Amino acid sequence: METYRGISAHPGIAIGPAFHYNRTLIAADELELSSEEIEEDIARVDVALERARSEMDKITMIAEQKAPDQGKAIFEAQRMMLDDPFVIGNVKRRIREERRNAAYVVDTEFSHHQHFLATSENPLFRERADDVEDIKQRLLRHLMKKDKIVSKIDGSAIVVAELLTPADAILFSRQDLLGFATDTGGATSHVAILARSLGLPAIVGLRAAAGHIETGDILILDGTRGELIVKPDHATLVRYKELAHDEVIKEKERKLMGEATPPVFTKDGREIAISMNMELISEEAIEEAVGIASTDGKPLRGLGLLRTEHFLTAHDEIPSEVEQSKIYCDLAAKFNPSVVTIRTFDIGGDKFSGGGMREKNPFLGWRGIRISLDEPIMFAEQVRAILRASAVGNVRMMLPMITSTHELDYALDVVERAKEDLRAKGEAFNGKMPVGVMIEVPAAAIRAEHFASRCDFLSIGSNDLTQYTLAVDRGNEFISHLFDELHPAVLQLIDNVITAAHRKRKPVSLCGEMGGKDIALPFIIGLGLDEISVSPTRVMHIASLIRTMDYKKCQSLVRKALRDASTTEDVKQLLVEFQGKAKPKRRRLIKKN
Ligand code: PEP
Ligand code: MG
Repeated sequence: METYRGISAHPGIAIGPAFHYNRTLIAADELELSSEEIEEDIARVDVALERARSEMDKITMIAEQKAPDQGKAIFEAQRMMLDDPFVIGNVKRRIREERRNAAYVVDTEFSHHQHFLATSENPLFRERADDVEDIKQRLLRHLMKKDKIVSKIDGSAIVVAELLTPADAILFSRQDLLGFATDTGGATSHVAILARSLGLPAIVGLRAAAGHIETGDILILDGTRGELIVKPDHATLVRYKELAHDEVIKEKERKLMGEATPPVFTKDGREIAISMNMELISEEAIEEAVGIASTDGKPLRGLGLLRTEHFLTAHDEIPSEVEQSKIYCDLAAKFNPSVVTIRTFDIGGDKFSGGGMREKNPFLGWRGIRISLDEPIMFAEQVRAILRASAVGNVRMMLPMITSTHELDYALDVVERAKEDLRAKGEAFNGKMPVGVMIEVPAAAIRAEHFASRCDFLSIGSNDLTQYTLAVDRGNEFISHLFDELHPAVLQLIDNVITAAHRKRKPVSLCGEMGGKDIALPFIIGLGLDEISVSPTRVMHIASLIRTMDYKKCQSLVRKALRDASTTEDVKQLLVEFQGKAKPKRRRLIKKN
């Protein structure tokens, strides 16, 4: 039994026989052409290009079915290389000027671009070098009349290769492919992206495993840990079979969640996504949340707010980076493909005093992003842990209590540095993980456009936005009657946020308590929110209410409230009138004798 370690491209366990895919790379000899041969070779380039284009079109079609979210884009980008006037023009010019054979010129010309990418400082560019190799090999095969490489497996198998191109992965995916493992490739290589899109366990970057594996060898591919076990002993095999069985059940749960997201529309066809909020972070809480979310028919987009500071309730201290990574990855994997929105620690205020200090005015004190930015080690650990989870599921990161764009710029910088750290260690993450800002402070609501242009989404924290706008402590029972999200000033700020974000084409959600209140729903709909995140127990109820409402009518209610209301009572009076009108009119029954 041998174990090889690489980079996890997609989690999951596959057990089965290996298929050793040997992709020998073709290289062209340099030949001098006679004058008559020059035009012939140029014509052969056109034929080879045409054949390669038609192959790429077929592969793109398969990718569209098998890996709809990423596949098409990957192959369209490759296909564009075949139409690149600069590269193709150079090839033809060089055949004429240098009087060299087409295959040799194609080989050297594409290798030149490949070398440029492979030696780039930017790891993303480096990983794109394999795509150029794929196109080059395709053209050389046609120019040198080599046989087609057969990507065919007998029965089910785990494909092991030194190099697997995205096209190979797609062609294998039409058969009973259990997973794949490659010596080359990084977490962001196209073949890794395709593994995620195909939902297959996969490992890349194994360095030197393929040469030790023969077709038919029994393998355990543990995509979660990035481990490939060759010829496992009996005990290991039994242990992994049990693990794989659990994985199958989890996969079913995941699929159910992915499918169980019937969109929620108003009567007149406006979609509003519903997510849920989650507080306690423990294994039991995750199981419970997955259970709720995977109940058939739940109209859930995923988790709209994970309050990570509640770690402190369970642990009394902030868990280590490793512990955080494990729990975020676990959550992301279980919710995949549903969205998981992880909010960085919002310590302070009424939630666990920052550093145990006593502040006179904790809500106006050291809280949320202020603590994270003052504690850069703690913050970077959390960001890295969240990034790791982004490789495993559909993860977004959200920053609480942002007041100025300085804070956001600084936090985004921390995210970029965290990505560099992970890249240097060869760890997987989603380079495009969305980062959003919570709008909870009036300053941020007023200047929302400046935040929207810098991040991927905004989420309104109506609890804090109301408290800070109305200067009413959200937890003080003496003045609780003054705390009301329907105050026209709060509505006006929310309207400002949504208008500003939509101007910048960024979505806005709302994750405060307001989202789960029946009375607030016509305003939430009319203001034009894209998503609301509510407590798990409110999901079904809010979804069913939205389906009875009319967006256009809610919009005119909001317009009236923003224009005419000066108090919360005015807003509520308008709501009473709105509801009166919205009620179906009863027909008077005229009694006939
Ligand atoms: C909010 O302020 O509305 C919010 C969702 O954040 P929290 O309640 O955790 O402060
Ligand atoms: Mg808040």
